[in-house]
Amino acid sequence: MPLTAYSISAQKEEDVEQVLKRLSTLFGEDVSASEGVPETWRAFMRQDLQCPCCFITGAELVKAAHSKASKTPVRQACFRFINPKHRDHCDFGSAETANTVPENLVAFSDSNSAITKAVRELVGTGIELGLFSQKSIRDMREWFFNKKIQSMFVVTLDPRFPKWMNSLHREKFYAKPVEGVELTPEIVANPKFKWRAAVAREQLLKHPEYWAFSDAFHKKPNPFFHEYNRMGTLARRSQGRSVFDPSPLEDEYGKTCQLAVFIAKNYKPLKSTTSNKGITVSSVLALAALLMYVRDWNQDLASADLLKIVDAAGSSNQDLGNVMGLNPFHDFRTWQALKAAQEFGIHVTKYVDLKAERVAIEQELRAKLGAPPMAVE
Ligand SMILES: [Zn+2]
Repeated sequence: MPLTAYSISAQKEEDVEQVLKRLSTLFGEDVSASEGVPETWRAFMRQDLQCPCCFITGAELVKAAHSKASKTPVRQACFRFINPKHRDHCDFGSAETANTVPENLVAFSDSNSAITKAVRELVGTGIELGLFSQKSIRDMREWFFNKKIQSMFVVTLDPRFPKWMNSLHREKFYAKPVEGVELTPEIVANPKFKWRAAVAREQLLKHPEYWAFSDAFHKKPNPFFHEYNRMGTLARRSQGRSVFDPSPLEDEYGKTCQLAVFIAKNYKPLKSTTSNKGITVSSVLALAALLMYVRDWNQDLASADLLKIVDAAGSSNQDLGNVMGLNPFHDFRTWQALKAAQEFGIHVTKYVDLKAERVAIEQELRAKLGAPPMAVE
């Protein structure tokens, strides 16, 4: 259940406490979250508050819950949307995702990170200059939600596949010293001979599926071998579920990454903290995406806006930056590679233990080349 909701009348995102405070001014009564909220207020909230992901109305307030024994809070006050239900693929729609904050949301208010603090200053300044508003941030989220529901696929990739394929891929580097070398008893008798290299070459020959996959996937723009770890995690977590295929946003992604680098270069507090990593930091990407979105993905206009913000930054009202931003490109390359790997359709029927396989190969090679058997540990 979302901790915040978007108020149509106030044109901003608010948590339960903020909503109640606003309504007490509006209705001239003072009611705290722990007391009963009057039906007139509830009726107002049902019409005024939208789900921050799928934008349906009908919000009901859910009180904070405390554990009786320790009095520690077990649930923060939040909003529930039951009637109508969340739209399909809403991040808050299913039981598994109901109580988690979606990973692509960026709380600019997070004060633990120096980078986020710096970005929050830029967001607050941008709002003060009127370049965007909390409403633009909300509109971008709706734009993204609509993109998302038009581009979904079901995850079927075996979660073991990325790691296994990558382990096999590493053998290619071990095999380098014996590239093009035909092994003879004389060569392997040399004390400097590396059995590890010969074994690696032999192992790769045993797996024709590796060559097919590697041909297709070891080309530059394909990040399979960089992203395999994360890919396994995502495949496990989303197995059998519909997820967003971000590929249709390739153009927007490229432009946003470029602007993120530009932001990191042009705003001193970010320059020192991010160096060239700017593009991988979620809050910087969220700001870059917002600047691009409000300028309809025109890079020149977005860069000019950024420079105006940087000039004015340093004294913005910190409350303005207390918003939930969206990084539409969270795990962009990983999802893209996951989908491509899945579509490549390689089926590994048995995930053989590659280490055990190498031991067997070495024994076989030694016997064939008349070398003494492996030392048993
Ligand atoms: Zn929703």
